[in-house]
Amino acid sequence: MQFDDDADLDTSEVRDVRGSRVPGGRATVGGGIAAVIALILGLLFGVGPDELGLSAGDSGTTATASSAAQVEQTCRTGRDADTKDDCRAVAVVNSVQDYWEQEFARRGARYGNARTVLFTDRVGTACGSATSAVGPFYCPGDRQVYLDLGFFDELRTTFGASGGPFAQAYVVAHEYGHHVQNQLGTLGRTQDGRTGENSNAVKVELQADCYAGVWAHHATTTPDEATGRPLITELNGADIRDGLDAAAAVGDDRIQERFQGRVTPESWTHGSAAQRQQWFTTGFRGGDPAGCDTLR
Ligand SMILES: [Zn+2]
Repeated sequence: MQFDDDADLDTSEVRDVRGSRVPGGRATVGGGIAAVIALILGLLFGVGPDELGLSAGDSGTTATASSAAQVEQTCRTGRDADTKDDCRAVAVVNSVQDYWEQEFARRGARYGNARTVLFTDRVGTACGSATSAVGPFYCPGDRQVYLDLGFFDELRTTFGASGGPFAQAYVVAHEYGHHVQNQLGTLGRTQDGRTGENSNAVKVELQADCYAGVWAHHATTTPDEATGRPLITELNGADIRDGLDAAAAVGDDRIQERFQGRVTPESWTHGSAAQRQQWFTTGFRGGDPAGCDTLR
């Protein structure tokens, strides 16, 4: 994955609160069994920690940046996105939202921007307070994506994924898939409390994977608002394989096998490795959000 070296990044779409202290103490990622269980419950790229029963019950005070936000100072151009993880996250957020803005406009609708909050350890959200252990998530209540970049180390070490820049992009694009669902009114279908292979919860997650694939299809052809040129200049087969590998690594069956030693499809909330890869691929090949009809 390569970015246009000279393109300006729009850091206004990202709020950097890394290193700020939030009441409720510090949490550690991957620190023992509790964290692993939280990961299994929160599961990866979920929607709002509240619904997952992970709200810590404290005030959920929203974190404020204590010092000048780092991304604003260091993430200026596509060249920064090629070399720094946090700047790459900014660039992907920009590219994903450029795509959806243009796609909504083609359909005569208006896409509302959503910011990504970069945090470390713990963060307060409209969906409750969350620790890094729940993994990246989207909170419909404040329409923001929450991301601790340490998750991408977890993806390699705890979940056995190959990682790579595009694995990060896939995760970000998946979360924005939930934001698209929120605007289209489909996100609410996860609220029936059911789990399992054919549950609405799984279907909504698979649709977000498919939307991530749709963005990837258009990533190198979507013009950047300022330059008129695509912000992403190259995506190759190895990138897509990194994305598919990440999608598989967070499949419910893989995670259950890894952490509980057996697979119980009736408790799935996000779909199997095969389902997640299949739907990302459907989106990537077709490039049409209408093809992401997992909720049929
Ligand atoms: Zn999700």
